Amino acid sequence: MRGADYDCIIIGGGPAGLTAGMYLSRARVHCLLLERTVCGGQILVSDWVENYPGFPEGVSGADLVYRMSKQAEKFGLPVENAEVESVDFSGPVKKLFCGKKTYTANSVIIATGASPRRLNVPGEQEYYGKGVSFCATCDAPFYRDKTVVAVGGGDTAVQESLFLTKFAKKVYLVHRRDKLRAARVLQERVFANERVEIVWDSVVTAVKGLFNVERVSVKNVKTGEEKDLPADGCFVWVGITPLTDFLKGAVDLDAGGAIAANQKMETSAPGVFVAGDARNTPLRQVATAAGDAAVAALGVERYLEGLEAGEKL
Ligand code: NAP
Repeated sequence: MRGADYDCIIIGGGPAGLTAGMYLSRARVHCLLLERTVCGGQILVSDWVENYPGFPEGVSGADLVYRMSKQAEKFGLPVENAEVESVDFSGPVKKLFCGKKTYTANSVIIATGASPRRLNVPGEQEYYGKGVSFCATCDAPFYRDKTVVAVGGGDTAVQESLFLTKFAKKVYLVHRRDKLRAARVLQERVFANERVEIVWDSVVTAVKGLFNVERVSVKNVKTGEEKDLPADGCFVWVGITPLTDFLKGAVDLDAGGAIAANQKMETSAPGVFVAGDARNTPLRQVATAAGDAAVAALGVERYLEGLEAGEKL
């Protein structure tokens, strides 16, 4: 159809991309999934997922994406390793530029997700990998019987702080307000955990040390008081940034860089859909990513049917 390599290309291999790929392959749409590293996305580094339906005991993030990959593979979803650096969505044939290679498709699902937001304070970049981390699953075992600082008040900060307590003897959870944003069930657990001390109304101003992290400077935003917390590590979980830079104006974004879409997951560019954390959405969960992807896949099918009907006229 219309001289493109594929009927649909899915960009990103997290839960949204894998689900879209599974739906489209099962519907026999000639599609391809492009993933720049390994399939899985952010959930790959999540220790435990306990709110994805069908797993009453919970499931590790790695196991969940392994199962999703297997299911997509079963229906024949092809996956290629490539990073989309820029796009041209101006015509009916969408172009995806990946280094020297250009892929073309009649439709696109953007499922690039998001990456951890940075604090942008002195020492954060310098000590990255020397005590500063964004991933408890990757680095928590290094902090057995040690003291760490965790930053943030959302689901990620609270859930991952609880995971840290399996190793660290003490976790300071530094939050900029006097109320956590995290789900109630997580709040109850963190309040009951004796290894976690919440440092309320405080922001991190610097990460310090000689060769590795030794102290984290915090400032109370109400009193102005500043102090150094002794810490061997500093885990930053202050939200996420949608991975949409490569789009450079090709679709409408909101002020935070998330892709604007309607309830059919249609973006401002015809034939271009979005699913998962890259979307402007009130909730970012594996379940919502999967739901978005199912809707986007249906939208792709309808869009392609429309193109085909137009060609026959
Ligand atoms: P989030 O919900 O956006 O929370 C970010 C937290 O960081 C907020 O508490 C925010 O404070 C704080 N923050 C933001 N910028 C800051 C800064 N510059 N300095 C200090 N603190 C800052 O992000 P998230 O926790 O990473 O979660 C992302 C999405 O994934 C959410 O939709 C979440 O529900 C979902 N998620 C779900 C689960 C689960 O269901 N088990 C687990 C993990 C993540 P304020 O509260 O003051 O804004």
